[in-house]
Amino acid sequence: QVTIVGSSNVDITALMARLPGPGETVLADSYQLSPGGKGANQALAAQLAGAATEFIGAVGKDSHSEVALGQLDGAGVKLDRVARSSQPTGVAIIQVDSGAENSIAVVSGANSTMTDQAVKAAGAIDGILVLQGEIPASGIKAAMDAATDRIVLNLAPVIELDRDYLLKANPLVVNEHEAEAVLHQLNPHLGLRFNGRYERLAAMLIEEGITSVVITLGASGCLVADKFPAENGGAQVRPLPAAKVKAVDTTGAGDAFTGALAARLANGEDLVQAAEFAGKFAALTVQAHGAQASYPRSLENL
Ligand code: ADP
Repeated sequence: QVTIVGSSNVDITALMARLPGPGETVLADSYQLSPGGKGANQALAAQLAGAATEFIGAVGKDSHSEVALGQLDGAGVKLDRVARSSQPTGVAIIQVDSGAENSIAVVSGANSTMTDQAVKAAGAIDGILVLQGEIPASGIKAAMDAATDRIVLNLAPVIELDRDYLLKANPLVVNEHEAEAVLHQLNPHLGLRFNGRYERLAAMLIEEGITSVVITLGASGCLVADKFPAENGGAQVRPLPAAKVKAVDTTGAGDAFTGALAARLANGEDLVQAAEFAGKFAALTVQAHGAQASYPRSLENL
């Protein structure tokens, strides 16, 4: 079992020749509504990767909520504890130009109601808990307090969390930029720039006390780090290369990776095995357009 406490959004994506400047109106060619939000994306990925998955979040009492939850519902993700807020369903308003440059405004809406109070009201957390940085820190901490199994923390975007809570991650799943920001939170005195030395970055997160870390590196795959089993040992870091594929759209790839990783951990695999699977799962998603729409509905090719 995997339980995801996090965000769900509707992405409103308009395609246009060029992005409007301040005060300017441009005519766009088309638009599309699609489900998004890191929490919802990861819940769909976990379910499709083979784990019984529950999503705990909040949507509005509006028609966007149906778009936000439609794919999750269709895939069989448990949604009984999704709250209906008086705030609107979260939206991301995305403008994309012909060169694929974008500008994005996110309205958190109902996601901002996922505070400690709301999370406590939801009740017990079953199985592996997965969290992201798109709900208030108080809700993240309350979910961690209620967890009884390991916690997968995808701190994206990076928000302030107390050291005690950062150290509950097992693993912390972050890209290289987020990894630097988390290290800075743990130890503001380091002030280092890693410039590609990401194995050192992973090792330093372990040395700061995090039990395990996965740093995702896009087409370069990921690094899996944990404590060396030997007494007094430091960190052990293993690079896992990504499959060589033709990427057409990497939107939601990181979420696919995190959801699939959690699913495999829930099914009893160790962190390296789970990360190998998550990398293959994420590599499939970059070969199709969209976030949730690109997630594989069958595991036959994995
Ligand atoms: P984020 O979007 O959060 O920065 P990444 O870009 O690191 O996430 O992607 C997450 C994972 O998705 C990577 O670790 C890798 O496994 C997979 N992935 C992303 N881009 C590619 C690609 N071009 N080819 C193969 N796998 C990819």
